[in-house]
Amino acid sequence: MVLLIGIDDTDSRQGRCTTHLAYRIVDFLLSNGYEVEEYPFLARLNPNIPWKTRGNGAVCIKVKVDMESREGEHVMQVVKEMVESNSMIGYGANPGIVFLGRCKNIEPIVRFANDALWRVMSKRGAIKVIEECKNDSSIEYYTMGNGQGIVGALASIGLASSMLDDYTFEAIAYRREEMYGLPRLVDEASVIMMDKATYPYTFNNYDYKHARVLIIPHGPDPVLLGVRGDDPCILLDALPMLNLHEPIEGYMLFRSNQGTNAHLANMLDASSLKAYTSGYVQGRVASEPLAIEGGHTFFALECYGNGGDGYGNGKGNVLCAVYEPTGLSPIAQMLSVGDLLEVGGGVRKGTSKHPKVLNVEYIKIVDLARKVRYMNPLCICGKRLKSEGKGKGYGCKKCGYRVRDAEKVEVEVPRDLRLGLYLPDAKAHRHLTKPLHRYSIKPGRVRMDIDWFKSKITD
Ligand code: ATP
Repeated sequence: MVLLIGIDDTDSRQGRCTTHLAYRIVDFLLSNGYEVEEYPFLARLNPNIPWKTRGNGAVCIKVKVDMESREGEHVMQVVKEMVESNSMIGYGANPGIVFLGRCKNIEPIVRFANDALWRVMSKRGAIKVIEECKNDSSIEYYTMGNGQGIVGALASIGLASSMLDDYTFEAIAYRREEMYGLPRLVDEASVIMMDKATYPYTFNNYDYKHARVLIIPHGPDPVLLGVRGDDPCILLDALPMLNLHEPIEGYMLFRSNQGTNAHLANMLDASSLKAYTSGYVQGRVASEPLAIEGGHTFFALECYGNGGDGYGNGKGNVLCAVYEPTGLSPIAQMLSVGDLLEVGGGVRKGTSKHPKVLNVEYIKIVDLARKVRYMNPLCICGKRLKSEGKGKGYGCKKCGYRVRDAEKVEVEVPRDLRLGLYLPDAKAHRHLTKPLHRYSIKPGRVRMDIDWFKSKITD
């Protein structure tokens, strides 16, 4: 039987990482002769919930166990102990673990997972789904701290069990313990070289516009680097291309929903935007863009909704905020009233000082409005006429021609914008942001016959 193990909320800003705990659990499983069925699934959930530590990640591991011989119980016991002793409980971590064995109907868990990608879910809601599944499945859960981790733990199982249209992979290399907290020693030139050699099958390795390495995190956690891409074999080729000036503990491949825009798949109800939800709206620009200090731009979008799918999707005006670090502000400033757009992003909670806004994660320009200016008419000599005062007509400074009853004429202003999709700069991408070139890429397949896991690397 395959036992699915969902884990979340084990780390805090002071250290540790749920993917590293998953790596340690897989190390235990493999070195004790268990068969891990697929690469662990790294689920990224709604990135706009405020209580996430970093990237709102949760992990699901699938392992084959023989229930007759109590292997399942043994694995569950060890996983519980490992989560307990490797979590930052008391420092902001609130772990949740879900074990799913025999299962007749995965649908309620998949539905919960799809909602957790873009809505705010409660711990109580997760437990309700688990309790209902108990009627026809073997499912157990454990929580520590305030137990909020149960949401991600259950959602990771749902996503790992879904037939996803799109997914990616990540090879994560882990540091030796003595290096935690120290600067990461990864040679920048080798990252650029690896990026060029593996394009387009890896992504977000390097931000060329800002000369910034993107594969390394910056906190005290055990992750040295992560290379993301569409083909597990190419990820394994990419790792040795990197010039590392520190030894690694090991690495593991994950399958993931990173880089797929999974959190933006739903149309938001513009008539009652809910704080912390993620999704998209469609409509026409209703106010000229306003640029404020710091390079941020705001504009209103009059949304027409799509008639309702159970979540409302009503009509309404949505204030869109485009922040400077996204690099999208210059595009937003060129928009004009009447432009037809689709805008994706996350809803920022309104306060007494600030209204509720949609923090923009992409802009798709569907149609550009005609923009006109009213100018003085042209003279018969080709120069533009000058007004001679209110009601006094126009005269030409060059040839002296005068006309009394002429009116201002409409002149079309050329639009320096193209239709299409505009994404933030690479450095501002979220884990779930789908890079432009991935729109034409099909994900590769999981290959268990390659070195997808390596631990205790000594050289
Ligand atoms: P890291 O990326 O380093 O793993 P993190 O950003 O994933 O850290 P967590 O420490 O896992 O942060 O905290 C996220 C918390 O939010 C978890 O408790 C998780 O169960 C919960 N959570 C995830 N998605 C949702 C959601 N849609 N609604 C409510 N809670 C959620």
